[in-house]
Amino acid sequence: MDEELFGSPSLYALSFQELEELMKDESRYRSRQVWGHLYSKMDLPEEMTDLPLSLRARLKVLLPPALAEVARVDSDAGETTKWSWELRDGARIETVLMRYRDRATVCVSTQAGCAMGCPFCATGQGGFKRNLLCEEILEQVARAWRDLRPERLTNVVFMGMGEPLANYSRVVESIRRLRDDFHLSPRRQSISTVGIVPGILRLATEGLPVTLAVSLHAANDELRNRLVPMNKRYPLASVINACERWVEETGRRLTFEWAMIDGVNDRPQDASELATLAKPLGAHVNCISLNPTPGFGLSPSPPRAIKIFCEKLRSLGVNVTVRSTRGAGGHAACGQLSV
Ligand code: SAH
Ligand code: SF4
Repeated sequence: MDEELFGSPSLYALSFQELEELMKDESRYRSRQVWGHLYSKMDLPEEMTDLPLSLRARLKVLLPPALAEVARVDSDAGETTKWSWELRDGARIETVLMRYRDRATVCVSTQAGCAMGCPFCATGQGGFKRNLLCEEILEQVARAWRDLRPERLTNVVFMGMGEPLANYSRVVESIRRLRDDFHLSPRRQSISTVGIVPGILRLATEGLPVTLAVSLHAANDELRNRLVPMNKRYPLASVINACERWVEETGRRLTFEWAMIDGVNDRPQDASELATLAKPLGAHVNCISLNPTPGFGLSPSPPRAIKIFCEKLRSLGVNVTVRSTRGAGGHAACGQLSV
């Protein structure tokens, strides 16, 4: 439980032992029942209809939701849903659920805003408000899962608003609780980072087989300093060194993310520089067409340029995928999250 911010827990704050303690004057089986509602059925207290009304009312007071829905937008013919939530202190965050034929992925925020200042990203353009609590991260997963019922959520990506490794302890705690309480293996969880070197090195020692994605976007310091200001603190050589350690320690696949910007990082020499970094690491490259944001004047690479760039990478022995843009119509796509 993480009480420092609000002084009282919310719906997904408690461990099973803490829930038992909170409900110690109820019949013993009630805490097991509530736990099942929260972590198997993803019910809100008003949906726990096999509990006495008085207990439901008590739960609503003792364990209020951390997230209040402000808006919900469905796009891609209902396959993508974006929620805007208001937190208990009025901060706003967003969560995106993507339904596919054989899986469903939720993209969760780890901070309200972001302090990293990448100029092409709407979250970065809006500045930083605060770190999210573990219970606020978990409730995003539960609320998206609730919407999927009776289908099951299969994947969680820490790629929404904020820099996960700048909220390290809450994010790692969330990965563990998703594993233990929601039964979502770390292998089905991905973390995307701008390249916080000490965070990558520490995560490599946690024994959590998550997938790590590093938002590279440029393969030389001169360009990366402009696109990813954190590069001035953790230059490319140190990021790549941390990536080597990650692969050695975890044996897990690494992904490099590359938002394709017309004439900026989509030229043949960008592909060769990127291949030089990705190939020895066996890293997979994920190309994303730049999503337009209000504060960034440059354009996405045209589809033909993306195709040529990817072919060049493949010819240099690098694994590449082009990430489909989900949610662009509902402003739910990568880098468009802002409230
Ligand atoms: N802070 C983390 C995770 C959140 S951003 C990070 O930067 O990795 C998730 C992904 O969206 C990152 O790869 C980020 O670079 C990318 N992104 C941000 N703005 C974008 C935009 N306008 N178009 C395409 N991708 C963008
Ligand atoms: Fe923050 Fe990631 Fe956006 Fe950069 S791209 S500002 S690190 S959320």
